[in-house]
Amino acid sequence: MVDLTADCSRCDALCCVAMAFDEGEMFGFDKPAGTPCRHLKGKRCGIYETLEDESFAGCRQYDCLGAGQRVVQEMFQGQSWRDGGDISTDIFEAFRIMRLIHQWLELMEAAADLPLNSAKEAELETLYARLQLPDDYDLDTLIALERSGIGRDVQVYFRSLAEVVGR
Ligand code: SF4
Repeated sequence: MVDLTADCSRCDALCCVAMAFDEGEMFGFDKPAGTPCRHLKGKRCGIYETLEDESFAGCRQYDCLGAGQRVVQEMFQGQSWRDGGDISTDIFEAFRIMRLIHQWLELMEAAADLPLNSAKEAELETLYARLQLPDDYDLDTLIALERSGIGRDVQVYFRSLAEVVGR
């Protein structure tokens, strides 16, 4: 079973670098994607204990669902976005897609607790199986999975559940 719990101690601050945010209620300033937040100190946030006081409540609300440490530990061990160039681009792209995969897995685990009929259970199993990555997966595997239309198929499946579960 894939671990869907974030473990920042095994990550490399990917969310504090890869993602963009805009100044507003949730974030204290604008930050473009792919640049380190100015509060980042090494691999950890320098203001984590006081995020809300420093106008960064959005950081506490964000959850990578375990995608960050998985990308760092399984795909890019020994490499870092700090190396720059293609490797940082690849790490951020892997993180983006892995976050989606983990989000879909979380939805599916929630759906498994619903009173599904046998047809919907079988569909769920098929989708869940498509989201399992092979042992030797890499960025191309993730890109191919996203391009396979899995996101659309998950959406269609969940829309169809409204009818089945509502009956
Ligand atoms: S404020 Fe802290 S948690 Fe938020 S992006 Fe910056 S370093 Fe990361």
